[in-house]
Amino acid sequence: MQSPKGTFDILPYGADEPWKQAFLWQHLEKVIRETATDYGYGEIRTPIYERTELFSRGVGDSSDIVMKEMFTFLDRGERSISLRPEGTASVMRAFIENKMAQERPIHKFFYLGPMFRYERPQSGRYRQFYQFGIEAIGSPAAAQDAETIDLLWEICRRLGLKGLKLDINSVGDSASRLAYRESLQNYLRPYFDDLSQDSKTRFEKNPLRILDSKDPKDRKLLEGAPSILDSLSAEAKEHFDEVKTLLDKIQVPYTVNDRIVRGLDYYCKTVYEISADVLGAQNALGGGGRFDGLISSLGGPELPAVGFAAGIERILQTMLAQQAPIPAQRGPLLYLLPLGDDAKRTCFTLASHARHKGIAVEINLHAKKIQTGLQMASKLNARFCAIVGSEEISKGVVQLKDLESRQQEEVPIDSLIDLCLKRKESL
Ligand code: AMP
Repeated sequence: MQSPKGTFDILPYGADEPWKQAFLWQHLEKVIRETATDYGYGEIRTPIYERTELFSRGVGDSSDIVMKEMFTFLDRGERSISLRPEGTASVMRAFIENKMAQERPIHKFFYLGPMFRYERPQSGRYRQFYQFGIEAIGSPAAAQDAETIDLLWEICRRLGLKGLKLDINSVGDSASRLAYRESLQNYLRPYFDDLSQDSKTRFEKNPLRILDSKDPKDRKLLEGAPSILDSLSAEAKEHFDEVKTLLDKIQVPYTVNDRIVRGLDYYCKTVYEISADVLGAQNALGGGGRFDGLISSLGGPELPAVGFAAGIERILQTMLAQQAPIPAQRGPLLYLLPLGDDAKRTCFTLASHARHKGIAVEINLHAKKIQTGLQMASKLNARFCAIVGSEEISKGVVQLKDLESRQQEEVPIDSLIDLCLKRKESL
């Protein structure tokens, strides 16, 4: 049996690639949770499947995600259900459904979990992948946009990532976009026949998304295209200038890139992307922006919002490629190695008591030889190994070996737990 195409296992050991080791995921998740909490964001968990309609309305009928990439099926009650391809639509649905707007003026959420897209699997692109993201609802201020960027940047900094590129842009308000839409169409019209099939389809429906095209011929044509920044309304321009000023003040380095529009229809004003050059083709780590009209279009109150989503696999792959400092995988403090039935029973009880006191203990109930037991203890990264044979049982002691210094001492069984507690504190 094999896992479905585009999926992978995250394992405590034995992973075929380093980024699939569970302790790395735990480290990353801890940093995300701590940083998001420091910035005042609270965790939100939504179902991994929703009614399909939520995504067609929330992500957009014309987006690739909804048109080509959703895992959609009918449940036994003939309702159309989709595995979530992204987090924002579900967060907004939960926000509206739980009437959270009544609770406070500003709402800040973070989420973390699996997303599903039926894409062609390749390095850095999976069908079940993990994202974390944040959404800040209620504030139209440029400072709110800048705070989300600062948070993403800070998570990457705490994870030890280096040399990242932050591209920012403004897609303006609806008046700016309407003006730009026309000037982009005017520019592209003479080249229409040379555009890729996807871009031809987008020409009328959503020409801004042609800027997202990865097709090399499209990219060449786009080189001379007008800049959306020249179509910004005065208000949108002022907003963008303030975002840049605030980023300068907190020394988050960015590049203004007027080709960034983000794939989704609902963005307005600020949009941004963060990328790492070590990743090759799939180099985007995350991105986001402002989406003031989304909540009301889903039937909720008229509230502005801004947020981002970032991919966990790619962040881990970048950390490993850059040899970012990662806390070592913690092994047991004490490894019990009983030899003989009496010793096994005594050690079994001892292990249980020690674990109740919060000491990490592993016990080997199957070792025949001290040597293989010690090898296993080292493999597990244990700090101390207590060897207990029949002679030790009759004397009421254990032979305690420090696996780091290789020193061994005889310790009364009755004082082993206290000794471990003391050693634990001094580690
Ligand atoms: P998006 O929701 O498309 O803006 O994606 C945000 C981030 O999620 C990207 O920058 C990637 O890091 C990650 N991501 C998106 N799709 C995938 C995928 N199929 N496999 C792995 N990571 C992905």
